Amino acid sequence: MELALQFMAFFAFIFLAGYLAPAAQFYFLYRNRPDRIQSARPRPGQIAREVRLSIITVAIFAAGSTGLMQLYQAGLTNIYWDRHDYFPGYGILSVLLCLVLHDTWFYWSHRAMHTPALFKLTHAGHHKSVTPTPWAMFAFQPAEALIQFAGIAMIVIFLPLHPLALLAFLGIDTTVNVAGHCGYECVPAWAKRLPLLRIFSTVTSHDAHHTNMRVNFGSFFNVWDRFCGTYNSGAENEKLEHSASREPSPISRPHALEQNNASRLNTARWTRALPD
Ligand SMILES: [Zn+2]
Ligand SMILES: [Zn+2]
Repeated sequence: MELALQFMAFFAFIFLAGYLAPAAQFYFLYRNRPDRIQSARPRPGQIAREVRLSIITVAIFAAGSTGLMQLYQAGLTNIYWDRHDYFPGYGILSVLLCLVLHDTWFYWSHRAMHTPALFKLTHAGHHKSVTPTPWAMFAFQPAEALIQFAGIAMIVIFLPLHPLALLAFLGIDTTVNVAGHCGYECVPAWAKRLPLLRIFSTVTSHDAHHTNMRVNFGSFFNVWDRFCGTYNSGAENEKLEHSASREPSPISRPHALEQNNASRLNTARWTRALPD
């Protein structure tokens, strides 16, 4: 009985605070902006599919959280409540560590899910959205939802974390995830030019991953992508697409745009062939 109540409480919290509120907010803020990254619009029925998959993901996350709560109650996690248990500043450091560790898990598990052996089983559902909407933030197949949850669970089990640090990390993760699918570049241009901020992913870079599945596997940072040669800022594609939309003749399009469009068409054809 207690387990069922815990599950329902986690489900309600993750669904309302982690999915419905951020997805609705970003959807209504950005859906009609004229300067969207892609000129294409979401396909009919796409949002219903994204919401359907996301609700299943929320249920898996709620079940996982209930399991983690059992581990916490048995003293098997590294959650601590007294901030004097660790040196001053550890709280902030632990949030940064969460971002680095989770980004590393995300990059490598994401690349693994893109291998032919795992793609259809784990990640094809997310890539059905070639022009993603904020409702796709949790649009994972069950196997991918388990892999995503495992990354967070390992952090909670092994890294000493204050509950406020955990909440801060989950808040950042939720914001980056929903923004990455909103279709509009929310990061100001001046911020992208600051050298220190260049290591962060942008909306454009994750959007580019949805049109070209060979680039941008990272979550918060693009460091692994740059190191492994899978980085593409997406800015060139964005610029070319916008300039091409003003050019009447397709013959004068730059070669890079032809390549980008070819890749986009292949991605669209491939993902259309995937099962729902
Ligand atoms: Zn992917
Ligand atoms: Zn995505």
